Parts: sequence; C-alpha cells; structure tokens
Amino acid sequence: MVRVRSSLAQLPAYVPGRKLPGTAALAGNESPYGMLPGVVARLAELAGGVSRYPDMSAACLVDALARHHGVEPERIAVGAGSSEVCGQLLHAVVHPGDEVVFGWRSFEAYPILTAVAGGTAVRVPLREHGLDLDAMAAAVTARTRLVFVCNPNNPTSTAVGERALRDFADRVPDDVLIVVDEAYREYADPARVPDALGLLGDRPNVVVLRTFSKAYGLAGLRVGYCVAPAEIAATVRKTQVPFSVSALAQEAAVLALGEGAEVARRAALTVAERGRVTERLRALGLEVPASQANFVWLPLAGDSAEFTRHCLDGNVVVRPFAGEGVRVTIGLPEENDTFLALAASWRG
Ligand code: PMP
Repeated sequence: MVRVRSSLAQLPAYVPGRKLPGTAALAGNESPYGMLPGVVARLAELAGGVSRYPDMSAACLVDALARHHGVEPERIAVGAGSSEVCGQLLHAVVHPGDEVVFGWRSFEAYPILTAVAGGTAVRVPLREHGLDLDAMAAAVTARTRLVFVCNPNNPTSTAVGERALRDFADRVPDDVLIVVDEAYREYADPARVPDALGLLGDRPNVVVLRTFSKAYGLAGLRVGYCVAPAEIAATVRKTQVPFSVSALAQEAAVLALGEGAEVARRAALTVAERGRVTERLRALGLEVPASQANFVWLPLAGDSAEFTRHCLDGNVVVRPFAGEGVRVTIGLPEENDTFLALAASWRG
C-alpha cells in the first residue's frame, strides 16, 4: 500500500471565499471592478495562440517588472499567483523539520505550504489584531529558515510601520529569509506603511512578494512574483513547476502593469469606500481595526458564524473565521450599501 506523508494528515484544507450566483461576492478580496480595459481586448486576440507553450522564463513580464521596480531582472521570480511563489520560497530554503515563523492569524496558505514543504509552522499570536514583530523576532531560533511578514495582514487588515519593520529586520539573523508579503500594497497608505523593497530591498535576506490578483484585477489568471536577492530568485525559479504561468497570464500581467493610472484610480475608490464602510460599522457599535487593505476585519469571536449567516440570508457572501471574526471585502458602492444595511439589521 502506498503510504502518504503522515505530516500531511492533519493539514487543514485551504478554504476559499464562497461563490454563490446572485450574491455580492465580498469574501475573496478580489477587485470588484473587473479586468482593466486595456487587458480585456488583447486577451481575446491572444487566446488563439494557446496551443503553444508559454515562455517558461516569462521574459517580457520579468523585464516589465524589473523596470517597474527599478531592479535587475535577475532579482524577479514569477509564479502562478503569489501563493505558488510562497511555496517556491519555502522549497528553496526549508529542510525537513526547519521552522517557519509567522503571525497568526494570517494568510491561511502559510501553514499549509509550510507543511507541504516539510517545515514546522511556528504561529506567533497577534497583538491587537496586528503582527507582533517583537514576539516574532523572539520566536526565531537556530532552526528557523523563513519568516512571513504579511503587511498588511490578511485577514485582520492592519499593517506594521517603518520603524517596527526595520527594527525587526535588524533583529533577525541574515541566514533567515524574511518574506514580506505585500499582496495588498496598492491599498495601503504609503505615508504609514513602508514599501519593503524601498526600505529593506538591499538586504541579502529580504524578499518582497506581490500579486496581480488584487488591485490588478487578475485573480483568475494566477500571476504573482517576488523581488529577491538574485541568488535566491535563481533558486526559486528552479522550484517552479514548468510552464506554471500561462501565456495569457503573462500577457495580461504585462498589460496590467502598463495601466498604472487606472489601477491607482480603482484602488483609491476602494480606499474611499473602505473609509465609509469602517465609519458606518463603527457608528453601529462594531469594533473595526484600521484597515490598510481592500477588506475590513470584524473581530466578532463567537458571533462570527451567525453574522455570516445573516449576511448570506441577505445575499452577501463574507468570509468567516470560526470563533475569531469575519473578513469583508470592499466591493462596489452598492454592494457595500447592501452589506452595511445587513450589518445595521443584525440583531437590530
Ligand atoms: N498573500 C496574501 C496575504 C493573500 O491574502 C493572498 C490571497 N488571498 C495571497 C498572498 C495569494 O494571492 P495569489 O496567489 O492570488 O497571488
């Protein structure tokens, strides 16, 4: 009989935001604005070419990203979503039993991908809905190979500031990879939330993770990437499943990068709506931590399931985390209005 790895037996499955026809989809942290206008038409043209394999080195995309960030192309590695790049980074540095540190709760793929890579997850409790970087630095041991810093943090939406991030990086030994996951960067206030590439990009152990799934509106095409020291990026590339980033995904990402003004405009709309939603929820007496992402976090603890059911009854799908809270993606203004009306009528 084939024996599967026992370390995977207890692994929780990744729970994606539910999709139900005819409801407002506020569970998946996607952009509500659809694909960028310059991307749609070109993809239809390109679809005819998919009988051929994509460019495995994703050269055009890598060059475009290198120009976008002002770094050498050697420092970029792309993957089928930044989730895949997370896994690749783990495979690049984790030996069986090595420790991987992250705040908890955070992005639910971290423990799953850590276990798949054979590592041991070390979860450091959050403090006031945010990463406790002091406690995370203290959790680093001689067995630690990688630390995820999710900034802003999913699902609690808060972000750490420049001083805290720099102090943290100073405390972590340089044989430990610090992966700053900036999936929600475009929604963060640049005056309050550091761009890790600008702040720490020169360090030999810092990797910045970005995605096209959120502000760039390409969640369904699966493209993400990291900017890393060249040697680490080269190893990450070796861990990639051949051709994992499809031809359409590569093209769409290059086109989307060229639509920076529209991306910024849409992100600003989401940020404005986030402010409105936060204020209204607080006026209803709900606790809402200050969000730097495209979602808000309601730490409803034991009421999370009931609140989620109430929203679903009103055709709005939100994302519960049992016993902890509910994450609500900022949608279109009318979707947010529907959600706010439901929040107002909850136990009302
Ligand atoms: N990092 C964080 C913090 C996320 O929330 C997500 C998506 N939920 C990802 C990475 C992965 O996104 P993708 O694989 O779509 O790029």
